Amino acid sequence: MDTQTNHKEGMGKLFIVATPIGNLQDMTFRAVDTLKNVDVIACEDTRTSRKLLDFYSIDTKLIPCHDHNENKAAQQILDMVQSGKDVALISDAGTPLINDPGYHVVHLLREQGFEVVTIPGACSPIAALAASGLPTDIFTYLGFLPRKGKARTALLTRMQQAQDTQVFLESPKRILKTLQALQALEDMGDRPCVVGRELTKIYEEFVYGTLDEVVAHFQAHVGRGEMVVMLGAGASKVVDDAMIQVALDKALESGLSASASAKQVAKNLDVTRSRVYALIHPKADEHS
Ligand code: SAM
Repeated sequence: MDTQTNHKEGMGKLFIVATPIGNLQDMTFRAVDTLKNVDVIACEDTRTSRKLLDFYSIDTKLIPCHDHNENKAAQQILDMVQSGKDVALISDAGTPLINDPGYHVVHLLREQGFEVVTIPGACSPIAALAASGLPTDIFTYLGFLPRKGKARTALLTRMQQAQDTQVFLESPKRILKTLQALQALEDMGDRPCVVGRELTKIYEEFVYGTLDEVVAHFQAHVGRGEMVVMLGAGASKVVDDAMIQVALDKALESGLSASASAKQVAKNLDVTRSRVYALIHPKADEHS
């Protein structure tokens, strides 16, 4: 694979531009500048984008790029960039490609060695996560969950087992059903859960609690508006070597033999005896 760092002389560029997720003021100066200066803006729905562009007095030509024409649009954008035109890609709201069209366009331009510039800004899952109060050091973004079948069951189980914050999108129609499906899995009711609703808009709201409490909230209040759901990790079931060592030291100090200590620690921490033995050998010598 070629690494690509330089702009191709005489060719245009593709700009991936984030737009607001509700509050029109959440445009960066650079986003406005870029949309004013490119030759063409590719957008999901020209009527939706026209409102944003009018707000910022941007009269750049729009072309459609949505789920139903993306391959064709990608070729059209490639041709324009090849002929020296700069093109911006936006979606109806937020960051393009994040559960929005654009992947085929970016992939094609990258494959052909053209420059793709990112103009960051609003992105609902990130905006929600940042204000959720849940751990953000490691998280998994799942987009929209599959609506039914094995794929849905597999994903819900994966979320149950996850040790990092899970972030996904859900429609107000399905929010209660999805939260209840998670709640029905073992040991889930106490997990921290946050739903960020109508972010950056007048009725922005964060529903925060345990999964049981958040389910109760949506049983009492009909879900409305756009939503991001976040689920915190359960208590860690991962046993590391340091934990085994502490338990082992205690068992040995209590006077148990090496093999009795290994047996007891393996049973109490639900780990294999061979894992405990791997740590026990130097100690076994001291206590034998
Ligand atoms: N690309 C977008 C982004 O960066 O936010 C996401 C597009 S996806 C098609 C639309 C979904 O994003 C909505 O159904 C909702 O789950 C979430 N979303 C978008 N705007 C939101 C907002 N203001 N508040 C909460 N969720 C939002």
